[in-house]
Amino acid sequence: MQPFPVPPDEIPVGGGWQRGGGPASACVDPADGSTVASIHAADSAQVDAAARAGAAAAADPAWRDLLPHRRARLLARVADAIEDHAEPLALLQTRNTGKTLGETRALVASAAGTFRYYAAALETLEGELPPSRGAHLTMSVHEPIGVVGAITPWNSPIASDAQKIAPALAAGNAVLLKPAEATPLVSLALARLVQDAGVPPALLSVLPGPGTVVGDAISRHPLVGKLAFTGGTTTGRVLGRVAADRIIPVTMELGGKSPTIVCEDSDVEETVAGILYGIFSSTGQSCVAGSRIFLPRRQYGEWASRLIAAATALRLGPGTDPATQVAPLATFAHRDKVAAMVDRAREEGAVVRCGGRIPDDERLSRGAYYLPTLLDGLAPDAKTCQEEIFGPVGVLLPYEDEEDLVAQANSTVYGLACGIWTADYRRALRLARRIEAGTVWINTYKQFSISTPFSGTKESGLGTDKGRTAIRSYQRQKSLYLSLADEPIPWARG
Ligand code: NDP
Repeated sequence: MQPFPVPPDEIPVGGGWQRGGGPASACVDPADGSTVASIHAADSAQVDAAARAGAAAAADPAWRDLLPHRRARLLARVADAIEDHAEPLALLQTRNTGKTLGETRALVASAAGTFRYYAAALETLEGELPPSRGAHLTMSVHEPIGVVGAITPWNSPIASDAQKIAPALAAGNAVLLKPAEATPLVSLALARLVQDAGVPPALLSVLPGPGTVVGDAISRHPLVGKLAFTGGTTTGRVLGRVAADRIIPVTMELGGKSPTIVCEDSDVEETVAGILYGIFSSTGQSCVAGSRIFLPRRQYGEWASRLIAAATALRLGPGTDPATQVAPLATFAHRDKVAAMVDRAREEGAVVRCGGRIPDDERLSRGAYYLPTLLDGLAPDAKTCQEEIFGPVGVLLPYEDEEDLVAQANSTVYGLACGIWTADYRRALRLARRIEAGTVWINTYKQFSISTPFSGTKESGLGTDKGRTAIRSYQRQKSLYLSLADEPIPWARG
């Protein structure tokens, strides 16, 4: 397999490629610590140039008046281009984020599917003629916002980028994308494919660099009329305040501490595999990770033993090894943060049932690895049970009955996802309605579909991504009244 040519140290700013004006930052392969590339951050002048060029391109009749089915054709071409470069894109993302190739292949396929889905949605989206209450025809139309600021994290870049870029372009906007500072490579490669597919180049600028500098400049730029953010709840609050000051819309997909619930009648094999996948795939660096594992008190010992045995048997290794189940964490700094959170859990009284340390396998010594870890012995309100770790760390928690379970499961500030394992579909549906979460999986976990809306409740988010209507969240609604009256308004006749 040929690697995707590592993008040169250039960023697309308002239609042209240039060296970033900010400091350089190394993109490191967390499997061995080697430097894959070095990319200069955008500076504030480049953010301004990108916003101005984006606003002009979005207002250009060549884009503004392009008929939906023609704009859809461009999006479909982007999907084709991603599929044509699927393997090298996956490898590039594996090298920059550490993820397994199986996963980055799925993320690339998801990105292509997202562009294809929004092409189809755009072509088939319909407007509304609200019933008139007078002598006029009333129309509700949807218009582009202009320039959208999209800010994404490092865990699944190409898929999270596509989930913002595709509906925003479909809606008729320009996009300023700020990928995470540590993982900009696949976003830069995506920008080249978007341009090659024929999308006017000034419509997508990719502006890497530190969030507090580049992301902040994008969010405050007067021409940016909407913020679309995926990341942590702390940053979400910062961007929410900026949006409130500027009175612009913001959608936020934020963190989680999702419950995954074992019922007494759960199928053993299916449940153990699903729970481990829910917490340890992506090395736990997943917003929806099922990190609080609720076990019925009467069967606690049996379920805990099974989960610990299966977690201990998971295969660690580089993302490029097809046998790997648990790859390195995305950065060494993040691995150290996860290790520190497990140390804090010990101080809180946690019993480490497996993992809880960096592996001592010589083969893994150069990478940012951490063993799959299961903890127990903690009260549900311990910090470890309340705060997102975003790593391969799950907490086992016993529950007495359904009331106790629902109370514990809902007792966090988050409300992103939930897994329920049971043979009883009535119980599953009853629980699914009682758990505060944007997504509930029943006898499965971490399955996604671009056609199914995705959102978080409580401090896990604001607004909805995915689904046909996501295009509308990148538009402004306008009402038109067209008079059908035979007489002038009876008020100030001349
Ligand atoms: P952060 O919130 O730290 O960062 C996300 C993005 O925001 C990065 O590009 C970051 O830049 C940028 N950023 C940071 N500060 C600012 C600021 N002041 N203004 C503008 N932009 C800023 O999250 P993480 O990178 O740590 O990502 C992990 C988090 O993302 C987890 O909480 C996870 O749950 C959440 N997430 C949520 C998903 C969902 O759909 N609900 C999906 C995936 C992840 P920089 O590069 O400097 O960090």
